[in-house]
Amino acid sequence: MEERPHGLGKKLVDTKGRVAKKLRISVTDRCNFACLFCMPEKDKATWIPQQEILGFDEIERIVRVLASLGVEKVRVTGGEPLLRKDLERLVGRLRLIQGIRSIDMTTNGWYLEEKAEALRGAGLRGVTVSLHSLKRERFAKISGADALPRVLRGIDRALEAGLDPVKVNSVAIRGYNDDEILDLVEYARERGISIRFIEFMPLDGLGIWSPDRVVSGKEIVEKVSGRYPLLPAGRGNGETSSTWRFADGAGDVGLITPMSDPFCDDCDRIRLTADGKLLSCLFDTDYHDLRHLVRNGGTDDDMADEILDSVWKKPEGVGHMSWIKNGWEKPRNMNAIGG
Ligand code: SAM
Ligand code: SF4
Repeated sequence: MEERPHGLGKKLVDTKGRVAKKLRISVTDRCNFACLFCMPEKDKATWIPQQEILGFDEIERIVRVLASLGVEKVRVTGGEPLLRKDLERLVGRLRLIQGIRSIDMTTNGWYLEEKAEALRGAGLRGVTVSLHSLKRERFAKISGADALPRVLRGIDRALEAGLDPVKVNSVAIRGYNDDEILDLVEYARERGISIRFIEFMPLDGLGIWSPDRVVSGKEIVEKVSGRYPLLPAGRGNGETSSTWRFADGAGDVGLITPMSDPFCDDCDRIRLTADGKLLSCLFDTDYHDLRHLVRNGGTDDDMADEILDSVWKKPEGVGHMSWIKNGWEKPRNMNAIGG
C-alpha cells in the first residue's frame, strides 16, 4: 500500500484514492427545532458546552489549512447554523480564503427571512432549506416547531435576495410524510427550485429509525414519474444526489440515497464538527481533534498532518458497514455531526 502524504501542500487523498474537496462545517450543534429524525426530544437534548465550540478565528484558521490541502467548497450547517450570532461575518471571512470557490448553507429556514440579504451580501452562494411537510400541524409534529409559514417566507426571501441555488431538502419517512411527496414536488416546481429527497439514515436521536421507515429513492422516482414524466440525468462525480429532470423542462428532482444506493466510491466530502473534530465520513467514529491542536500551540503543519491522517483513514463506505442497517451505537446524532 502507498504511504500516506505528510505535511502542508499535500492532497487530501485516502487509501482508495478518493480526494477530499468539499467541507461541511457544523458551526453549532444547537437547534431551535427538534426534528424527530435528527434529535432527541427537546427537553432531553444535551449540547456541547459553549467553551468547547470553535470560535470564528479558529474555524477560519482550520479552513485556511484545509484550503491549502485542496478543499474548494464549503457548506455551513449544524444544528441550526443561523443560531450562531453574526454568521454572515464568518461567511465573509471564509469567502476571502484563497482556494475557497463557494460557500453554501443548509438551514431549517427559521431565520432566513431576516438574514437572507446579509448572507448574500457577505458572499454566501446558495442555500438549502429543509422542508418536510406543507401541512402546518404535521410540520410542527415532525420538526417540533410551529414554523411552516415562517420557513416558507424564508424561502421566498432567499429567492428575492438572489441566493443561488435555492434548494429544498426533504427527508421522506414512511408513515410520517410519504403521502406528501407529490405536494412537495409541486411546491418546488411552482417556484422553479430544486427539491431533493434524502433517505432516512439511522442517525436520529429518538431511535425511531428502522428499515421499514426508509422511503427509497426508487420509490420516490416511481411516484413522481406517475404524475410528471422524468428523465434520468445521472449523478455528477462527487455529488450526493442523482438528478431526474422533468420531461416538460420545469426543473428537476434529486434523490440522495445513502441507504439504498450509497455514493461512497467517489465521495469527496469531509466534516468539521462544532467542537473541532474532523470526520472523514458521516459514519466515521475515529474523530481527529483539531481544536486540541488549535488551542495548544499546534502549528499549521501539525494540523495538516492530523487532517491528512483522518482523510487517509476514511471508511470505505456504507456498503461495507452492514452493521449500520441493523442498528448501531452511534456516537452522535445528526445535529452534532452536521448533516
Ligand atoms: N438545521 C439545518 C437543517 O435542518 O437543514 C441543518 C442541519 S441538518 C442536520 C442537515 C440536513 O440533515 C437536513 O436537511 C436534515 O433534514 C437532514 N437530516 C437530519 N437527520 C437526518 C436523518 N436521520 N436522515 C437523513 N437526513 C437527515
Ligand atoms: Fe435541527 Fe436541522 Fe436537526 Fe431539524 S434536522 S433538528 S432543524 S439540526
